[in-house]
Amino acid sequence: MLLIGPPGAGKGTQAERLSEAFDVPAVSTGDIFRFNVKNDTELGLQVKAFMDAGAYVPDSLTNAIVSDRLKKPDATEGFLLDGYPRTQEQVLELDRLLEADGTALDAVVLIVADTEEVVARLLKRAAEQGRADDTADVIRHRLAVYEEQTAPLIDIYSSRGLVVTVDGLGAVDEVTGRILEVLAARGLTVPVAAVPVTSGDAASAS
Ligand code: AMP
Repeated sequence: MLLIGPPGAGKGTQAERLSEAFDVPAVSTGDIFRFNVKNDTELGLQVKAFMDAGAYVPDSLTNAIVSDRLKKPDATEGFLLDGYPRTQEQVLELDRLLEADGTALDAVVLIVADTEEVVARLLKRAAEQGRADDTADVIRHRLAVYEEQTAPLIDIYSSRGLVVTVDGLGAVDEVTGRILEVLAARGLTVPVAAVPVTSGDAASAS
């Protein structure tokens, strides 16, 4: 499964919930990059400037990270990708990876959110977490890059009949409920006991 949506739509939060519900790992390229930057790894040094500027990390680096991660044993039964693919080249790479594994995507969850709302959420997160890429200027740039590079992927996956669209506005639980509902309508169900019931804050965004 993939989660697509603009920065601030709540992908990270929902990815954690869905990972729990479906018992598959949530793989966030943004988290992997941030971990490496924080730990001063070689990868971290390579990606830091791109991230700080709100630009995309080059496809070659990003694709290699995802290819490695999806080979880990916990991803053999399924996975949820949060924030990947973001470019057409990444779509092609993911297609290759899945085909090589003889597997295919079940669904692409598109979380839609109003621009003013996501900017407000990201500024709130900036105040709370101090992320280097959450300043007003960088946020605007990240939204522009999303529109230019990532929004077109929605058409690609729509033409494959994979996209389910969910309104990202509202409480975290509500949004999770909406996603589980649209996935269930496609035959992707989770055991009732696995539906997360923890309460959350609609403003935690990623
Ligand atoms: P995120 O946490 O998903 O918003 O990602 C934070 C930043 O990491 C992005 O603004 C990019 O600089 C970088 N990044 C994460 N995922 C990707 C990707 N799939 N392709 C290129 N850059 C990415």
